[in-house]
Amino acid sequence: MTWETVIGLETHVELATRTKIFCSCTTEFGSPPNTHCCPVCTGMPGALPVLNRRVLEFAVKAGLALNCSITRHSGFDRKNYFYPDLPKAYQISQLYLPIARNGRVDVRTQAGDKTIRIHELHMEEDAGKLAHDPATGLTRVDCNRCGVPLIEIVTQPDFRTAEEVTAYLEALKETLQYLGVSDCKMQEGSLRCDVNLSVRPAGSGELGTRTEMKNLGSFRAVARAIKYEAARQIQLIEGGGRVVQETRRWDEDRNASLPMRVKENAQDYRYFPEPDIPPIRLSEEYLDALRAAQPELAQAKRARYQREYGLPEYDCRMITSHRALARFFEALVELGVPPKQGANWIMGEVLGALSQRAMEPGDMKLTPPTLARLIALVGEGRLNRNTAVKVFEAVFDRDGDVDAYVRAHGLEQVNDDALVREACAEVLAVNPRSAADYRSGKEKAFGFLVGQVMRELKGRANPQRVNAILKELLMQ
Ligand code: ADP
Ligand code: MG
Ligand code: ZN
Repeated sequence: MTWETVIGLETHVELATRTKIFCSCTTEFGSPPNTHCCPVCTGMPGALPVLNRRVLEFAVKAGLALNCSITRHSGFDRKNYFYPDLPKAYQISQLYLPIARNGRVDVRTQAGDKTIRIHELHMEEDAGKLAHDPATGLTRVDCNRCGVPLIEIVTQPDFRTAEEVTAYLEALKETLQYLGVSDCKMQEGSLRCDVNLSVRPAGSGELGTRTEMKNLGSFRAVARAIKYEAARQIQLIEGGGRVVQETRRWDEDRNASLPMRVKENAQDYRYFPEPDIPPIRLSEEYLDALRAAQPELAQAKRARYQREYGLPEYDCRMITSHRALARFFEALVELGVPPKQGANWIMGEVLGALSQRAMEPGDMKLTPPTLARLIALVGEGRLNRNTAVKVFEAVFDRDGDVDAYVRAHGLEQVNDDALVREACAEVLAVNPRSAADYRSGKEKAFGFLVGQVMRELKGRANPQRVNAILKELLMQ
């Protein structure tokens, strides 16, 4: 029997607001435990939540970008459950009237283009964190994260492969980063996704029983977990067993998913409308203003770069993969850099330097004017490309002064034909064998001779001139 895998995703994204969703505590990451809490976010009796306007704005922006319809009249609901990281014993969330619904995300995989339907997007607060200390057997509670704003984005069960899921997550991350509503750092937990997965006989119209997997720390883990869980379910069913609807925890070290708890139903949470927060009513003017302020997103930029600059699709994808890179590219073009050259430097040197340093483009110190200057020096023939790459490396980390560096290290290209001719003659005199080899048809000898001349001139020579003059002398 052939099986089909069916997947739906619930993704939690931490919003990049300065303060929490219902109080003015900071959302800053990485502070000592329990230093960012107050009576509101720890749910002390009598404390009253007040909705952070920015959270609403970010949620609406995300909803618009994901092609959702925005709910004009919405509100919050209480989801009741007990867990030590939730001192209130309820989470303020949205069940009945989520802020956005019925969206769509287009993804591209090897297999082609596909639309993933968004079921809904809602706002909610995060819970705290538990830290288990195996040495003492103690568990500590840190409430800093209590009340950090989240949006949860729920898809329809539209995915069939791990590749589609990864493409969707990439697209989602890209969009939210472009909007500036989240940094989507998976390693800091600001993007977390739960994978709901079931299997069914290929061609069947019914959904199988699903499990929900949590604790997926990277896109790679998501892909591995999907493959593992699909295989587990198929094996279970083929062996005569039944899939149990449950929540499972992905264990990256063991490369396996393990049962965590039986899956709750909405009834178990005793949801009811949150009595401490008034309903939300959005005016048409408010929505229009947000629509008008939406930035140009990656997909639109890609299309425009192809159209306006005639760049290949591949280049456009690379340079729009981060908002910071796209901005950098646009600044280069504005400074007069030919678009294709700007794209090449970004795809080659900039991305290379970033990945070497495991850095995000947004954290880069190098500024567009510095790179533009470097590219201009190459264009004017004052630096050869190899030397320019060395200068790039030297100025990258501190956005150094290109001209000062070139001057201080005497790197300016030797365009003086007399000097080049002198170096060529010298190299030929010292290497008569190679010269003879070349004359007798061994092309490889030429490369060696060029290398020697470049060395003689400390790598600063204009390679075209070296080639021409060397050939000329060899012909004599
Ligand atoms: P809950 O809120 O209880 O987690 P939902 O019905 O809201 O359940 O679904 C959560 C996610 O699970 C959605 O992304 C949905 O597409 C997905 N899902 C629901 N049923 C299935 C199924 N049988 N197989 C795979 N995914 C499913
Ligand atoms: Mg769920
Ligand atoms: Zn607080």
